[in-house]
Amino acid sequence: SKGDLNALAAHFGFTVTRTPDIPASVRSVTDTRNGKIYVHGRDSFDAKQARSVILQTLGHFALEHADPKDFGEFLRQRVEANYFAGAVLVPESSAVPFLLDAKSDRNLSVEDLKDRFFVSYEMAGHRFTNLATQHLGFGTHFLRSDDQGIIWKAYSNNGVPFPKNSAGAIEGQRLCREWGTRQAFTSDARFTIHYQYTDTSEGTFWCATFVETAQEPAHAITVGVRFEDARWFRGWNTERHSVSKCPDGACCRFVSEEAAERWNGYAWPSVRPNSHVLAAMPVETVPGVDMVEIYEFLTRRENGAFD
Ligand SMILES: [Zn+2]
Repeated sequence: SKGDLNALAAHFGFTVTRTPDIPASVRSVTDTRNGKIYVHGRDSFDAKQARSVILQTLGHFALEHADPKDFGEFLRQRVEANYFAGAVLVPESSAVPFLLDAKSDRNLSVEDLKDRFFVSYEMAGHRFTNLATQHLGFGTHFLRSDDQGIIWKAYSNNGVPFPKNSAGAIEGQRLCREWGTRQAFTSDARFTIHYQYTDTSEGTFWCATFVETAQEPAHAITVGVRFEDARWFRGWNTERHSVSKCPDGACCRFVSEEAAERWNGYAWPSVRPNSHVLAAMPVETVPGVDMVEIYEFLTRRENGAFD
């Protein structure tokens, strides 16, 4: 509840203030000198999101994170802060019995975990993957990608073949168009949960994908398992089945001769900044964040504007 959250914030020496004028590039701003965490006011930001943002922020302090030295460290810190928020909002002591019941009914679902604990689909998906290996007895994969198939977050311990660049980075790479995370965008199940089986170079996987349309561009969140573990999940009996031949096959990388002939020289894509741009960037303080804007915001607040 709200009271618990404020008590937890107070434990770390913070008060939480909701304000409508927070800079657009961030979800929260923390003033460590005055012990204040600012999050978006009620209008643009729902209570569920605000809770998880506050907890992720507290997580950074609870885990004593220093300013990240590079993008890898930024990602690692973000994963840890997410883990902290997930562990508080979806406690193991109540989540595990809930999931074991669902497993015995062969009706596991990230959506149910989300509804039961009043968290976002993404948070529920994270927490599900955290708990599954130890408590449910199988490995999982987690993916978040945008409508262009660019991966923003990825995790796996089930051997699913994620695309990687030469340095081994997964974030910023483009997913095979045959994967559920991409198919969901054009699926007739776009507004519910898209289930599918996908054959890959590492075997067949089953996954459930939810498209979050609340933001622009929409993002898709996938949780998946190996074929033999699909039977524990709602949606195991889906008839959707696709074949991915990436990274070596012809399903994504090659353009047909006909299309090449027609469009060569006539297509001029306007590239949108994506996380792979960030991956190549030297990090000053926080990637993608305008620190001047943040400092101006904090100065305005310290001078008592809007109080
Ligand atoms: Zn492909």
